[in-house]
Amino acid sequence: SPALRVTEWSDVVDWWPRLGPASEKYTRGVVGVATGSATYPGAGVLSVGGALAGPTGMVRYAGGARTEVVRQHPSVIATGRVADAGRVQAWVCGSGLGTGEESAAELRAVLAAPVPVVLDADALTLLVDGKLADRLRDRDAPIVVTPHDREYARLCGESPGADRVAAALRLAAWMNAVVLLKGDRTIIGTPDGRAYVNPTGTPALATGGTGDVLAGLLGSLLAAGLAPERAAAAAAYLHGLAGREAARGGPVTAPDVADALRPVVGRLG
Ligand code: AMP
Ligand code: MG
Repeated sequence: SPALRVTEWSDVVDWWPRLGPASEKYTRGVVGVATGSATYPGAGVLSVGGALAGPTGMVRYAGGARTEVVRQHPSVIATGRVADAGRVQAWVCGSGLGTGEESAAELRAVLAAPVPVVLDADALTLLVDGKLADRLRDRDAPIVVTPHDREYARLCGESPGADRVAAALRLAAWMNAVVLLKGDRTIIGTPDGRAYVNPTGTPALATGGTGDVLAGLLGSLLAAGLAPERAAAAAAYLHGLAGREAARGGPVTAPDVADALRPVVGRLG
């Protein structure tokens, strides 16, 4: 079908924002990251690691793992609360955030910001618990949700099934959001019925925390101004390549994927 395409390296090259003499940290985009918690500090570290591999000029961290995040990533500004983060061009929300009332309040603050958002992991659970999923239809700024199969099933009340493109498109139409349905061939679906298939996946990515890295990278691309479906397709593509690169060095851990993203992005020129 003409509405289904396989993402190619040349697409990512075309879409990627380039640096120039006039580049400035704020105009490159500021990404806000509301992930991680005292219980799951690694999720904060990993999603920030993904965001720092992207094209933006600054990362502001507003999750509950400030000490660990700043220790691992000293360039990040860590405020601890979404409301205190200042100007942000896109938010990443969810991984390891927790599902209590404080986390729900942080999610609401993210959704109230008039900028694109990535919702992953605990943010998806909070949407279901708060029966918010179908109330986001009227949000003006774009939403990208990044479920794996179990998160998809929780959101939709049914598993993706064999036709994963149709599954992604159903959720995209229902939520009026771009859906990045994770799997061995990750699918990106848009509310208006277009889809990308990612060809770079590798089972080496089937290890804890790699999805957090992906969400951070995707947020960086949104903050840099890419259209949400392009940001999602490019992030999945580069994340897969980074997983393959990382696997050359032996069994992969999620920090390896974040580290491998940097030289992969470097090859974009
Ligand atoms: P998460 O479950 O949120 O940590 O995300 C896992 C990441 O690994 C996603 O980007 C998946 O697409 C990727 N992944 C998991 N299993 C596989 C697999 N068997 N083949 C390719 N990619 C995978
Ligand atoms: Mg995950």
